[in-house]
Amino acid sequence: MRPELKLDLALLSAALLLSSIAAVHKTNAQDTYDIAIANGRVMDPETGLDSVRNVGISAGKIRAISSEPLTGKVNIEAKNLVIAPGFIDLHQHGQDAENYAAKAADGVTTALELELGTADVDAWYAAREGKALINYGVSAGHIPTRMAVMHDPGSFLPGGDAAHRRATSAELEDILAGVEKGLLRGALAVGLGPAYTPAATNWEILQVFHTAARYGASVHVHIRSSGRAEPENLSGFQEVLADAVATGAPLHVAHIQSTGGQDVVHELDMIQAARSRGLDVTTEAYPYDRGQTRIESSLFDNMENQPDSFYASMLWPATGEYLTRESFLRYRKIGGFIIAPATTPEMVRAAIVDPLTMIASDGRLVDGKGHPRTAGTYARVLGEYVRQEKALSLMEAVRKMTLMPAQRLEKRAPLFKSKGRIQVGADADITIFDPDKIIDKATYERPEQYSEGIQFVLVNGSMVVRDGKLVQGVLPGRAARAPVKPTN
Ligand SMILES: [Zn+2]
Repeated sequence: MRPELKLDLALLSAALLLSSIAAVHKTNAQDTYDIAIANGRVMDPETGLDSVRNVGISAGKIRAISSEPLTGKVNIEAKNLVIAPGFIDLHQHGQDAENYAAKAADGVTTALELELGTADVDAWYAAREGKALINYGVSAGHIPTRMAVMHDPGSFLPGGDAAHRRATSAELEDILAGVEKGLLRGALAVGLGPAYTPAATNWEILQVFHTAARYGASVHVHIRSSGRAEPENLSGFQEVLADAVATGAPLHVAHIQSTGGQDVVHELDMIQAARSRGLDVTTEAYPYDRGQTRIESSLFDNMENQPDSFYASMLWPATGEYLTRESFLRYRKIGGFIIAPATTPEMVRAAIVDPLTMIASDGRLVDGKGHPRTAGTYARVLGEYVRQEKALSLMEAVRKMTLMPAQRLEKRAPLFKSKGRIQVGADADITIFDPDKIIDKATYERPEQYSEGIQFVLVNGSMVVRDGKLVQGVLPGRAARAPVKPTN
């Protein structure tokens, strides 16, 4: 390039920069925004902005962040409140109106089913189009695809051949083709859970990673059970780490505080070490020491002769009773959700405060029954770990709920570059909460109770929570989906 041309370009870009600054100023002074949020503490984990500002929103996007007052058709007073990016939950199984309402009340603006995923990506998105309170998205799921190919009778999780039988080579081909089709149809990631498909060989799981790698899709995995039953046996974790190394697929380890058991710190150390060697490995945690799963699933195979205390520790949320050996065996034949101890409060804290973990709920409510993590995860981290225990800074907690999950997905699904941030041009997915009051209200006995202290939630520029209450009759949620590619 000739030197004078270089100079001209420099002048031109300086002129453009000046004119764009002038444009922003003009916008601030004259425009009336759809919504103006006044006097809130804006927290943007990417730029580090943590100051009182006014935010102007129009047509679903953040248009201005200013120290000057802004005018809106609708005005929100946010004095003493935090204006954070809407929370992005990478792990939310319940994907219907009941669950979206509970998520919105906990500050979640995007809820994603990435661990289990689906066997039919098109149908999954079509079922929610125009009907969702918050943004939604799904992965191509190895478990449901294996269930479909092997005709497993289970609902939600496998209870038959998909759990207990090795796939034939023809079945394996169909399973991999199914996962690949999901990726072509814009699945955000690949879902995987060898704990629930114990008969899937190490080879089969490796092939799933190969498929994900070809599409740059992260693999969100519930690792094979090992740590909980056998401390210092890391083989379930090492399996997926090895597969990520061998294939180049990005790896995301689901709920490390539960599947990591007593080895959660060892596993976090291994993730940090892998990252320092350039591997794309991430993880998540939820702030509860009990888990929820299906009683008929393979996690409870060969548990008929445990001590009484084992059964007594398990809650049957449908009735609120704790189990005995007799009721365990009876309910296992019927099938249903169960809440069982997963780890200790110390291990949960270690996972939540570690800079590596994102916050993700693993939530699902059915007619008000389920685990409190569905409705309480985010407010619990902000109320208990940030405010009460001071175990985590507010900005660090916000980062774990917003920017980190957006960055996890943005290479494959570029729409996430506009989420998880309070910046001009970003999607107006915004959670406004009182840092002095925010707290979870969901309990193991009353899991459906909404969190408190979350005052306003906006999804694509529409209010879904106003003055601490859900707004009725609005459905601004949109599909969060990777680009769709042609299939043959
Ligand atoms: Zn799981």
